[in-house]
Amino acid sequence: MPESENRFKGLGVSSGIGMGVAHVRESGAVTVPIYSIPASKVDAELGRLKKAATLSRHQINQIRTKSKEGAAAEELGYLLDAYIHMLKDSRLVRGAERRIAEDHLNAEGAVQAEVAEIGDAFAALDDPYIAARFDDIRAVTNRLLLNLTKGAQRPIALVPKGSVIVAEELSPADTALLDPHRVAGIATQLGGPQSHSAIMARALGLPAVLGTPGLLDCVNPGDHIIVDGDKGTVVINPTAATLASYKTRHEKDLRETRLLARLRKQPAVTRDGTEIDLQANVELPIELDMVKQAGASGIGLLRSEFMFMNRESLPDEDEQYEALISLVKPMGGRSVTVRTLDIGADKTTAALMGDFGASTTSPLGLRGIRLSLTCPDILETQFRAILRAGAEGTVRILLPMVSSVSEVRRARDILDQAARNLKRRGVPFADPLPPVGVMIEVPSAALAADSLAQYSDFFALGSNDLTMYTLAIDRSDDQVAHLFDHLHPAVLRLIQFSAEAALRARIPVSICGEMAGDPRYTALLLGLGFRELSMTASSIPRVKKRIRDVDLIAADHRARVIMDQVDSGRIATLLDDFNALA
Ligand code: PEP
Ligand code: MG
Repeated sequence: MPESENRFKGLGVSSGIGMGVAHVRESGAVTVPIYSIPASKVDAELGRLKKAATLSRHQINQIRTKSKEGAAAEELGYLLDAYIHMLKDSRLVRGAERRIAEDHLNAEGAVQAEVAEIGDAFAALDDPYIAARFDDIRAVTNRLLLNLTKGAQRPIALVPKGSVIVAEELSPADTALLDPHRVAGIATQLGGPQSHSAIMARALGLPAVLGTPGLLDCVNPGDHIIVDGDKGTVVINPTAATLASYKTRHEKDLRETRLLARLRKQPAVTRDGTEIDLQANVELPIELDMVKQAGASGIGLLRSEFMFMNRESLPDEDEQYEALISLVKPMGGRSVTVRTLDIGADKTTAALMGDFGASTTSPLGLRGIRLSLTCPDILETQFRAILRAGAEGTVRILLPMVSSVSEVRRARDILDQAARNLKRRGVPFADPLPPVGVMIEVPSAALAADSLAQYSDFFALGSNDLTMYTLAIDRSDDQVAHLFDHLHPAVLRLIQFSAEAALRARIPVSICGEMAGDPRYTALLLGLGFRELSMTASSIPRVKKRIRDVDLIAADHRARVIMDQVDSGRIATLLDDFNALA
């Protein structure tokens, strides 16, 4: 155990203590895509796997030929023979083939899932010799994955169990690939608390510290590392005393989580008996179990980008339908609000980068509905998939990044076209058509909320982007993170105006930005009139606890006092004082 340790200060963006071994990711490296494939693509995917396995065997054979001489040649020969065998007829290859054929996983996802299962079986034996043999399997798998992904990617998802991912930056696409059972935490040099990567880390329950200057200069692969997502601290090679104190805190956190979980069956009602609807935000299908555990009344925001990230081509209607149905059906009639593609800014897809380049990476460029209306075929395909899923459950459609009424009108025309197409083909779809709602997340939408309400069946308030665009602060940039402030009077006025416009037009209004999942804001949001909140599933118990302590008349009154203020510092004090009374 070292006598001195290295401590770094960053932005704690996802709470909890993560302890493990540093897996340092080289800058610019890409990761392995996982997605489901339609039945019609199974043979092609099996063919891809076969081709990559053949190429891998060929490469290893070449290494074998080159290394026929030298002291270690014999030993190496045995090892390389074993590698070649693993790529021919082994549990790895057979298991991956079965996952492609039966689970309809893409080849990379199938290889990854299989090797993860083999790794778990090896780990269960708790034998250092066997554990070392797993390194061989990992080496073969990495080669196979590199060949499957044409050498462009490095398999971050294959990290050993208990790894802490250390990187300059993680994109949302990278984060989407992390396996929460293998990863203990995340520490990066860049990135802000409202970035989509931070949101995903919270959704996956991974403690994370982003925006940590100097981190990469002092960490080496294999170092022991602690990520404290509550305090924003990263400790490299902790001393025995530090380790012991973090272990105690970690156990305390676990006890608290267990206590909060007891609230699952309790209703989300205020002290004076008003029921509040608590729904879940979902960015990855893997979160579904957590949604059920948290007792969410529905999915209030399904970020559909997961179907488009980490791939070269766009998903077709069948593929999207199958991905959606895997979420809609298990919700058993509870509503699923599917947001149409919100690619752009920090969320990118290789399939569209070629056509639109830098505009899709600018927060002011072709993002959300703007991109969808520029490529109506993409939107119509997505609508068809949503409408089909709507025949087997309850869905709502949500349009992101809307800034004018004309965008809603055009999107509705495309939706009608999608319905006509399905009718002509005799494919069952939601009848009547699902409600179409609008994200209020850019200032123009908030300021035109009364007009938008005439064309929308519901509003969902996106406080992340509304704060970013109102204050002109990039939510992914750690340098300006300290200026990002939901309590800025300008932001609160836009939120209030939008909520009141919805209430006047008698359409439902929810809030699904990160404000909704932070109990600090709960009383204020209730005071501003919100009765539907949608958040990361793991935040539901904490917010429910706060709701059960709130007296609505008092919250209403405090919200009015707050809305008269001009200074966000004063607003923060008024809010925190009110919360402290609970
Ligand atoms: C928001 O902007 O508040 C929102 C919920 O959407 P996203 O975080 O996906 O941009
Ligand atoms: Mg948004």
